[in-house]
Amino acid sequence: MTERPTLRLAVLKGDGIGPEVVDSAVEVLSVAAKRNSLDLDLVDLPIGLQAYNKMGRTLPPETLEGMKKCDGWILGPLASGTYPKDDKDYPMASGKIRKAFDLFANIRPIRSLVGDENEKIDLVIVRENTEDFYPDRNLFKGYGEFWPDENTVFSLRVVTRKACRRIAETAFRLAASRGIKKQVTAVHKANVLVEGDGLFLEEVRKMAMNFPTIQLDEGLVDSVGMQLVMAPETFDVLVTTNLFGDILSDVAAGTVGGLGLAPSLNSGERYAMAQAVHGSAPDIAGKQLANPTAEILSTAMLLHWLYSKNGPAQTEKTALDIEKATISSLETEDRSKLTVDLGGKTSTQEFTMRIVANLEKMDP
Ligand code: ATP
Repeated sequence: MTERPTLRLAVLKGDGIGPEVVDSAVEVLSVAAKRNSLDLDLVDLPIGLQAYNKMGRTLPPETLEGMKKCDGWILGPLASGTYPKDDKDYPMASGKIRKAFDLFANIRPIRSLVGDENEKIDLVIVRENTEDFYPDRNLFKGYGEFWPDENTVFSLRVVTRKACRRIAETAFRLAASRGIKKQVTAVHKANVLVEGDGLFLEEVRKMAMNFPTIQLDEGLVDSVGMQLVMAPETFDVLVTTNLFGDILSDVAAGTVGGLGLAPSLNSGERYAMAQAVHGSAPDIAGKQLANPTAEILSTAMLLHWLYSKNGPAQTEKTALDIEKATISSLETEDRSKLTVDLGGKTSTQEFTMRIVANLEKMDP
């Protein structure tokens, strides 16, 4: 008898709406995996305010150690801005994870899933994840923002050739594998950030030469921001530095129904982590108002990534089933069956059960 494959996944619920959306993702994942004879070993690891209250820090070493022993991680949002200043992991546990495990690529797909107004939007923002204007990531020790006098702050921006090269390669490979418009748009501000974004552009242009079937476009971040609002359907894959990617992905999410529908994957060579684009949404936390779609589809992205690394086939099929059941739950004439952010009346848990019901109805 052949052994059933097992996936060992860390579950890190995070803050605010984190526990609600991660519970949904795990519930949908568990049903989909069972249908596909994929065994799951789910390991809960403390992170965020819950970890701080219990263990005195938002990213305990035990959590990092536990993560190393898993095939992949499902992370909820972290309310980093509210963390106490005496937290040893201040200011940002998620930044620390990205740096510690070299999760250099943040892949953020934006697709029209609800309604038909923007039917054609299908783009992906590929955001560099480990450096740029994120001062928590830019020094070996200490924090890359400082006060030379009481009225002045310096913020360090770091751009390295290596990071530019590998994020460019990720974007071109993705455009090639999608095979849709076969286009990469490099988003920059090299007219002002002449050196840093100049280096970024240089590496993207060099990488383009290895992918002759992919068209390279270039756009200033301000103008691309406008284009993303006015004509998002014209884009395929966008590649950019960390801060621009963060901002543009929220802008782009707005064109397809908001943050509740925007999944993302943080990935490197060895590790990957599902984490929706949205934050902890304290305004709706604990009220069953959150849309779990983004976290559920992020989990499917993690399974696709795991499959691309080392199989087994059940992983890919589980991801496809999750996507199909989630998308069909969003395709409804009756808006009340959607979550509140999409104009509906359905709670997080009820919407999750709709996805589970759709999963159970699907052919094996
Ligand atoms: P943080 O500081 O953790 O980033 P935030 O509230 O500033 O939190 P987001 O959490 O990204 O930023 O939320 C921005 C807005 O989008 C909020 O009004 C929130 O309610 C809404 N929102 C975010 N995620 C979801 C979701 N999954 N479902 C419904 N609404 C959401």
